[in-house]
Amino acid sequence: MINVEEELRIILENIKVLSPGKVFILEALGRVLAEDIISPMDIPPWDNSAMDGYAVRAEDIIGASREKPISLRIIEDLPAGKSSTKTVGPGETARIMTGAPIPAGANGVLPVEETQTIGASSVIAFKPVKPGENIRVAAEDVKKGEMVLKSTTVLGPPEIGMLASLGRKEVAVIPPPKIAVLATGDELIELDEVLSPGKIRNSNTYSLGAQIMHAGAKVHLLGMSRDTREDIKARMEEGFEKADMVLTTGGVSVGEYDLVKEIFKELGGEIKFWQVAMKPGKPLVFGLKQDKPYFGIPGNPVAAMVVFEEFVRPAILKMMGHSHLFNPTIRAILKEDLKQKPGRRHYIRVKVWREDNRYVASTTGDQGSAILKSMVLANGLAIIPEDCQIVRQGEEVTIKLLPW
Ligand code: AMP
Ligand code: MG
Repeated sequence: MINVEEELRIILENIKVLSPGKVFILEALGRVLAEDIISPMDIPPWDNSAMDGYAVRAEDIIGASREKPISLRIIEDLPAGKSSTKTVGPGETARIMTGAPIPAGANGVLPVEETQTIGASSVIAFKPVKPGENIRVAAEDVKKGEMVLKSTTVLGPPEIGMLASLGRKEVAVIPPPKIAVLATGDELIELDEVLSPGKIRNSNTYSLGAQIMHAGAKVHLLGMSRDTREDIKARMEEGFEKADMVLTTGGVSVGEYDLVKEIFKELGGEIKFWQVAMKPGKPLVFGLKQDKPYFGIPGNPVAAMVVFEEFVRPAILKMMGHSHLFNPTIRAILKEDLKQKPGRRHYIRVKVWREDNRYVASTTGDQGSAILKSMVLANGLAIIPEDCQIVRQGEEVTIKLLPW
């Protein structure tokens, strides 16, 4: 049995980042950029108006006021999208809308609120403007040749907008891995089957499937297998053929029907370790078949979810090129005593909230590894170190926040 850190180290050193591919920019949301983006242009490309108003020569309206307005002759209309061919001369102006290029000759924009038109071709200015006022200068956002986004950046909505403004339709990103999920167990029935004595519903496929999707990867369902060699083998084989990683649940403890480790080896897989000093989740298996990672996840519903958060999620994030692999932690004051047998790291389902300017946490009920309800009620996992036997009410613990 190895400890959590050692196990994480072994897993992560065996995980490779997937090869990049080009996708439409909207499909790149949340993905890791796999190229440097250098701007081929200035943004904005030209000086343009920040206001609806009049493009003027500042020197023409020095001293203008409500009492002593200065009259200008309108030489043209510049809606957004229209570029001028004329030059604003002394005593002249062009009506201009936000975003339209500043015409030659003009060096400021007087907002429409500070003007009044006189007939069709004249306007009076009630205020002066400073040179450059209300003008967005060319390249004030991005300069041609500038590195705008570095490879490894996680693409969020602003980055997608930036790519669009540079005219990029497609971009190279690390694609989402496909993760195959197989539930094993003679006791399992599917969602639409009628419950009979001794049977339980397969929930792991769905909680793990949802965790996979939440991490940004794709799920490939392998269904449920009976506890027979043939059935498990055929489905695991399909998983390694069609997916980038395979997860099985159940069948990894020491029970008589716990076959998955053996079958994984028969398929040519190499087991890197079995059993971690944690609770829940001890019987975890990790291995590789060629380059494809395999996790044999314990069957108990909460153990499965905790193991996923602790090990599988970081592995998936690494495959997707991320550098922040771990769920955030906070420190919180416990509202009750927690006792445990030392030797393994315990993950306690808790609810954390803010109270009197600090975080506090209390457990969400029965901590049995099959009790899914206390997971439903939890927003974090309190981490109780291996050597600790009791944490008393009022003491501080580390809590890993659940990411959903
Ligand atoms: P195992 O690791 O196969 O011994 O399973 C441990 C416990 O987890 C047993 O009580 C199983 O019934 C339960 N279990 C196994 N697989 C699933 C599953 N897919 N959904 C819900 N519970 C499961
Ligand atoms: Mg089983």
